[in-house]
Amino acid sequence: MRQYPKPLAKLINELSKLPGIGTKSAQRLAFHILSLDDREAEQLADAITTAKREMKYCSVCGNLTDEDPCAICSDPTRKDDVICVVESPRDVMAMERIKEFNGLYHVLHGVISPMEGIGPEDINLKSLVQRLQQGDVKELIIATNPNIEGEATAMYIARLIKPAGIKVTRIAHGIPVGGDLEYADEVTLLKSLEGRREL
Ligand SMILES: [Zn+2]
Repeated sequence: MRQYPKPLAKLINELSKLPGIGTKSAQRLAFHILSLDDREAEQLADAITTAKREMKYCSVCGNLTDEDPCAICSDPTRKDDVICVVESPRDVMAMERIKEFNGLYHVLHGVISPMEGIGPEDINLKSLVQRLQQGDVKELIIATNPNIEGEATAMYIARLIKPAGIKVTRIAHGIPVGGDLEYADEVTLLKSLEGRREL
């Protein structure tokens, strides 16, 4: 079989590393990119390098941002005595879409998973404890995903935080067990937030 010329093969190879992109899709995207005019192709490449260069994690909450602290942490209209703990920056986006939660966030960047060798020290927990020590937080809403790791992480955080006298709640199971916060529709997510219970 004839191989693709090297630059094209390289482009296909890089695209096929993206999540959800198989070899066939990578080939289709690569041919599409080559069909763009120079300016369009440069804009695409520039968007990738600029986003990669300018986006960072908020030093307070761990959310993705282009300014530090992020727009949510530095918004004076948001309540700073409620913190919603989520697994990833994408979950912050999901929560923000329902426009109901007006507190702050803390992004764990993962969950505790003994099976995969991920312990409490491997996720963004230490800075959460520091935040709680410094601020006057009254409620911690744990919105990790409703699967084994998400539940275990919620229980771990509850045990860690409750002795400090802070109310720890867990979002309700409007989200199907094993489901992802990120993919929950807005009504489901809103219901699960409203129906949260104390841990
Ligand atoms: Zn932030």
